[in-house]
Formats: sequence, C-alpha cells, structure tokens
Amino acid sequence: MTTLLERARREEDLSRDDLIQLLSTPKAEQQELFDSAYAIKEKYVGKTCYFRGIIELSNICSKDCYYCGIRKSNKNTERFRMERNEILDEALWAHKQNYGSLVMQSGEIQSEEFTTFIEEVLLEIKERSNDELGITLSLGEQTEETYQRWFNAGAHRYLLRIETSNKELYGKLHPADHDFDIRVNCLKLLRKVGYQVGTGVMIGLPGQTTGDLADDLQFFKDIDIDMIGMGPYIPHDETPLAKKMLSWTDGDQAAQFRLGLKMVATARLFLRDVNIAATTALQALDPVGREKGLLAGANVIMPNLTDTQYRPSYQLYNNKPCLDENSTMCRGCLSKRIGSIGETIGLGEWGDSPHYASRTKESGHSCLLSPTPHG
Ligand code: SAH
Ligand code: SF4
Repeated sequence: MTTLLERARREEDLSRDDLIQLLSTPKAEQQELFDSAYAIKEKYVGKTCYFRGIIELSNICSKDCYYCGIRKSNKNTERFRMERNEILDEALWAHKQNYGSLVMQSGEIQSEEFTTFIEEVLLEIKERSNDELGITLSLGEQTEETYQRWFNAGAHRYLLRIETSNKELYGKLHPADHDFDIRVNCLKLLRKVGYQVGTGVMIGLPGQTTGDLADDLQFFKDIDIDMIGMGPYIPHDETPLAKKMLSWTDGDQAAQFRLGLKMVATARLFLRDVNIAATTALQALDPVGREKGLLAGANVIMPNLTDTQYRPSYQLYNNKPCLDENSTMCRGCLSKRIGSIGETIGLGEWGDSPHYASRTKESGHSCLLSPTPHG
C-alpha cells in the first residue's frame, strides 16, 4: 500500500487495478491515503476552500430517477418553484457575504417558459452583483440552444452528474426513457458551448462495484472534466430503489461514508488539478463530513442558501442536513469549522478549476468531449 501511495504522490500513472486498490484501502490505512491526497491537493489547488452558495430553486421535475426523493412520481412532496425575487434576494445575500459564486439547482424542466425564467434571473443577478458572482448551473439535461442562452446570460459552469459510468447500472437506476448516451452528449454540448464542466456519480449504489468506481474515475479523465461533484448514495424512503433495499444499519452508514471519502481522495490522486466538492451528502452521514472531505482532497463546499421554508420539500435523500438552520447560521458555523482545519475561505473569488485554465491554454488538445479534434 505504502509503495502504491508513494507512486501516486510521485504522480505516476495509476492503472485500474491501482485505483481499485486505493478505493479498497482498509480503515487502518485510510489516513495515509487521505494525507497523500491532501499533499497533491495542496500542490495543485492549494489550501483555499471555495464556497458555492447553493439555491435549490425548484423541486418540480419531469424525471423519475429511481433513487431521488423529488422524482415526479413521489406524490408525498409539496412542489414549489421560488419566485424570481426570492432567488435574487438569496443571490444578493451571498454576494454581500462575499461568497465568490452560486450554484442554481433544480429538478429538470425543459420548457421555453423555464428557459426564459432562468435566463432573466441570470441576467439580473449578474447585473446587480456587478458581474462579481460566478454562477454554476445544475438544471439537468437541456438542448444546446438552452445551454447557450444560459451561458450568454452569464452562467459559466455547469454540473451534470453522469450518476454512474456503467451503462447497464444506469439502466437499472432509471426508467427506460432516461438515456445514458443523451446524458453523455449533454456533457459534450456543455463543453462545446464553453462552460467549465462538472460531473460526478453517486458512491455506494446498490449493485455498484469498486471496479465501477474505478471506471467512473477513468470516465472523468477521458472526458477531461473540470470539476467533480460526487457523494454517497443515501436512500430516500419514498423511492423505488430504497424500497427494494433492506434498511441501513449504523455500520453500513459508516462504511458508506468512508467509501465516499476514499473516492474523493482517489479522485484527487488521479485527476490532480480539478475542483472537487465536499458534498452535502457527506455531511448527511457525518456531522463534520464536509470538513473531512476537505481533508481527503476536496476544495469546494456548497453552503445551502435555500430559504428554510422550502428545504423540507427539497429532500433528495433521507436526513438531508441543515433543515432548520437559516443561511446566516450555516455560514457562521461553517467558517469556524473550516478555520479549525487550517484552511482559508476564498472569499470574493470565483475559484475556477485550474484544470479548465490549463486545458483552455493548451492548443491542439483533444478529448472525448471535444466537439472537433482540436476543440
Ligand atoms: N435535476 C438535476 C439536478 C438536481 S439532482 C440533475 O439530476 O442533474 C442533483 C443530484 O442529486 C443528482 O445528480 C444525484 O446525483 C443526487 N441525488 C439524487 N438522489 C440522491 C440520493 N438518494 N442519494 C444521493 N444523491 C442523490
Ligand atoms: Fe429529477 Fe435530478 Fe432527481 Fe432525477 S436526480 S428525479 S432529474 S431532480
């Protein structure tokens, strides 16, 4: 194990078997894995943690993913869409707090009305923040034209998780009309339009193997991704996937959390200069899960800005944290915790992915996502 970690720290290529071995690190040796990932993180992205305040603007979704608590067939969730002014208030609050950027996330809606709504909100946020807030969107699969309109209106990063790079497993987690190839193509379109592109997976899905997770990391590399947002799969009671499973024990939950951290650390060792988020799902499994994520190699945190009145309706999984804290309280406790692990917060900075900066400087660079050989 030590030799493998030494090779990883010397930045040698890691094979699929190496990745599987890292992901299978036993508990007694995991600290060494996290420390190695932290050393690579320090070298490539530093010890600054960037905040992306997340606004969960609507739980109305046309999709029916078998794992997700806001899937359209869940009749036990009250549906909402925030008003334009409510979104603006939260965005401007984040600006005032000196957050560098925002994430606007919602269920997936493909309609002219929704596209225009988002477009107008983006234009107004950009104008009222003097173009100082960076904006990431996470609004699902859309047409190239829609992606382009939102990009023109000021969004510059987009997060669309592939959920799993194993096409067969993807088929088991979604109804037949949810198409893996369409999702991959959306990642290509986003890149073509000019976004910094983020993707990710759920970790510890039923039926997922360690080999699948290693393949997920290779998928991220092959498509030359700029950012990663991934977190443990957590059951939601009102979903078909959770109903098929036996309920979790505390031991399962701890193992699921550790696997999430190991995936973050292995991703850092393998991909090095990308932005990696310590996601809320880590915090759902451990009260200081996001800080542990930072110490295992992540460099981005997404504090929740969503008004507390809407949070109970945006339950993607059971026990999603921060239900009854407002965002000021969240910020206070988060800043203290990040300081306590020796990191600084990149206030007022966009904190763009260094990988994006280097890939856009390179000429003649091509990858699976390039729209042309020299894209
Ligand atoms: N509708 C958009 C964005 C909102 S969902 C989209 O699907 O891209 C955001 C993410 O929540 C999804 O990509 C998925 O990975 C995650 N998610 C959904 N249900 C989950 C669960 N039960 N456990 C962990 N993550 C989940
Ligand atoms: Fe909708 Fe996204 Fe949930 Fe799928 S994961 S049901 S697209 S919100």
